[in-house]
Amino acid sequence: MKVTKLTTYQVPPRWLFLKIETDDGVTGWGEPVVEGRAATVAAAVEELSDYVVGKDPRHIEDLWSTMYRSGFYRGGPILMSALAGIDQALWDIKGKSFGVPVSELLGGSVRDTIRVYSWIGGDRPADTAAAARDTVDRGFTAVKMNGTSELQYVDSWDKVQDCIDSVGAVRDAVGPNVGIGVDFHGRVHKPMAKVLLRELEQFKLMFIEEPVLSEETDGLLDAMRHTSTPIALGERLYSRWDFKKILASGAVDIIQPDPSHSGGITETRKIAAMAEAYGVGLALHCPLGPIALATCLQLDAGCHNAFIQEQSLGIHYNTTNDLLDYVRDPSVFAYDDGYVTIPTGPGLGIDVNEDYVLERAGVGHRWRNPVWRHADGSIAEW
Ligand SMILES: [Mg+2]
Repeated sequence: MKVTKLTTYQVPPRWLFLKIETDDGVTGWGEPVVEGRAATVAAAVEELSDYVVGKDPRHIEDLWSTMYRSGFYRGGPILMSALAGIDQALWDIKGKSFGVPVSELLGGSVRDTIRVYSWIGGDRPADTAAAARDTVDRGFTAVKMNGTSELQYVDSWDKVQDCIDSVGAVRDAVGPNVGIGVDFHGRVHKPMAKVLLRELEQFKLMFIEEPVLSEETDGLLDAMRHTSTPIALGERLYSRWDFKKILASGAVDIIQPDPSHSGGITETRKIAAMAEAYGVGLALHCPLGPIALATCLQLDAGCHNAFIQEQSLGIHYNTTNDLLDYVRDPSVFAYDDGYVTIPTGPGLGIDVNEDYVLERAGVGHRWRNPVWRHADGSIAEW
């Protein structure tokens, strides 16, 4: 079997899909995108296709190593996301060619289902609390919210109080046993992280995500000393070598690699195993589309330390199209009592609706994340 062609499709709301074709008719799908840079990643996929076209798609480890190591410059969000989507499509092809799900090729499942959490916003306390209650009424047992708006290095108490009120309203709305993840989104710098972590301790959170930027390991260690709340991060780390430093530092309890950014199935599986050796949990990042979610679930199936999965159904970014629009059988992602069943179909376990992908690729998108500024005019972290 030989790869004949790679084609990318930039589709709303903000995604990039990849189809890889082979000479024996099996096709595979991947989702190579980093949010806000879809066209750049598409260009990287096109360049990487030189290493893939004409090769046997089942030699995934060798193709991965070639794409990663043959470039003198490597790593980072663009190259690793391009590599990720290609890797996902190769695994999809391999699973389909053997007639088994990817999880079977990775050693088989250790679970049939995995708990999922749902996004509830976070900008206005009353709205967020109502969204949390509604989410729990629909069967979810865990939610995630933003903790703050833009925050200066040292900011005023009213910003802290807003965060306390917002998270407190959600805890009051859902009771003590629903998991609440609070995402600081890298918006908070070390001085305010210390304050917020102490104040949020009372709400017994499931985790606090990106309490400071992931590259600020010293700040993370300092943050860890000020809370018993589990610290989660990893959506902006891209390889074993990136995760090695943070795991060795002891500054993380839960890692959140995104298999559309962290080198695909091949690399994320290795990152997860490395985290397991440090006693660190796995909660794969996935605010993306159906191919990315299917990829996550195939990984969750076999990773012992996976305990919850992010998914994007109804997330605020999905204004023009949503998670289920591009698959022929949306029931593969049916949530039941807060859990989703791991798809058992061949490859990634989903059937991409190619006709609809083509139609929406004609519309495309030019999504960028918001640009925020502080009151003094300086740029703020979003
Ligand atoms: Mg996040």
